[in-house]
Amino acid sequence: MTNRIFLSLLACLYSIVLLAQIPKAPDRKEGEGPISQLIIRGVTLINGNGAPPIGPVDIVIEKNRIVRVASAGSPGMPASPNRVQLKEGGKEINCEGMYALPGFVDMHGHIGGRAQGTPAEYVYKLWMAHGITTIRDPSAGNGLDWTLEEKKRSAENKITAPRILAYTSFGMGAKQPITTAAQAEEWVRENARKGADGIKFFGAAPEIMDAAIRENKKLGLRSCCHHAQMSVARWNVLSSARAGLTSMEHWYGLPEALFTDRTVQHYPADYNYNNEQHRFEEAGKLWKQAAPPHSDHWNKVMNELLALDFTLDPTFNIYDANRDLHKARRAEWHEEYTLPSLWKFYEPSRESHGSYWFNWGTEQEIAWKENYRLWMTFVNEYKNRGGRVTTGSDNGFIYQTYGFGYIRELELLREAGFHPLEVIRAATLNGAQALGMDKEIGTVEAGKLADLVIIDANPLENLQYLYGTGAVYLTDKNEITRKGGVKYTIKDGIVYDAKKLLADVKQMVDAEKKKTGWKLMQPGMH
Ligand SMILES: [Zn+2]
Repeated sequence: MTNRIFLSLLACLYSIVLLAQIPKAPDRKEGEGPISQLIIRGVTLINGNGAPPIGPVDIVIEKNRIVRVASAGSPGMPASPNRVQLKEGGKEINCEGMYALPGFVDMHGHIGGRAQGTPAEYVYKLWMAHGITTIRDPSAGNGLDWTLEEKKRSAENKITAPRILAYTSFGMGAKQPITTAAQAEEWVRENARKGADGIKFFGAAPEIMDAAIRENKKLGLRSCCHHAQMSVARWNVLSSARAGLTSMEHWYGLPEALFTDRTVQHYPADYNYNNEQHRFEEAGKLWKQAAPPHSDHWNKVMNELLALDFTLDPTFNIYDANRDLHKARRAEWHEEYTLPSLWKFYEPSRESHGSYWFNWGTEQEIAWKENYRLWMTFVNEYKNRGGRVTTGSDNGFIYQTYGFGYIRELELLREAGFHPLEVIRAATLNGAQALGMDKEIGTVEAGKLADLVIIDANPLENLQYLYGTGAVYLTDKNEITRKGGVKYTIKDGIVYDAKKLLADVKQMVDAEKKKTGWKLMQPGMH
């Protein structure tokens, strides 16, 4: 999101960013490790490479590295006698009956800002409680220095947080508007010098986009783009991919590349981009204006994107409310885990970004359901033809709360047609590849960093088990229970009790409720 920033004059960006900073995370009190040897015993491994589950295995970790994944016998049989031995000073965790997955990558993880009123600790703990061990912050909305400082503290495990990659919003910190290719290149070089991991674009004039993307790539950095409507008529996803962009965010710019009987979206005469009901309602009719699935032009665009090794980061979940507002608003976790200030930000407003519920009902929702159908068809086929699709949440907007919205993203990939194992691969290895980090993370393999998710239920059977609140499960004795919720999140060999992290979040929410006397109410019901 963060379209407001895009709309501001580049020269003003720096001060806006400074104003929007949120409190940094406190020093780490949570987690155990890393230790000389840690053995995850008897677990079933669901790896991120498309392989089927295998178990029981013992995953051996030394300090922050996986050193071995060893067979621990046959399913349902007594433990094999020649299992990996525990060394002195080591520790083992019995994970029989549990499942281990690589740590999740959130490719679109805004750390939050003043508008949401969410301290970094709140956001990080929600992410870690949902198994997210790496995030790409697309914009570095709290400022590049702020984000790089948090990145460093996270890398040193001084805070409880995922690994952080900072993709600076293009033009951030520029002293004057960038109007030439030479200025764009200079900004790109300066961004790299400052230590950013990449750039987040929102679109600009073609010669600026072309110069900036190419220069950034030449320097070995990566990039992503939300092709906002203000620039998309001249520069769409295909233009970006040809210049060497790494990933497209959301979906804007893709229907435009697929137009055959028009060159701009069918905007009504009274459309105003700054009126978000206009913006999002009309966007819901956009895919219908593009070439139909499997038509010649549709195939041609897809095949060119595939040939360019382009990554799609759809962030399906962030528009989920558009097709079922009640469901998103009433999600069961809001009560206990959505901070009052965040809830306030979600409420209908002509000013908050992503709160365009002026008059949102049946017509808008039905249009968006059709929009999703066409969009999902493209994304699923892209995956089937070998294309890379990743998982990004864009949470902290539109009733999607950090962590929970990420799991919803997994469900929506499943809905698009992904096999659950393809969903897990999108969430792990594909993200690692798109970040250029697949030598270090993305699968559970000897030599890689020890980033893992451990859960007491099989997520392939029901991805909802991964929600912090788990999934409803009725026992044989007719008792209503909950199944799942991540049990341990391991990052860099440090074991975090995921449920404890979630309890910390609830405590933060409770404290805020007490302080403000706030009670969750549905809009307009007071
Ligand atoms: Zn965003």
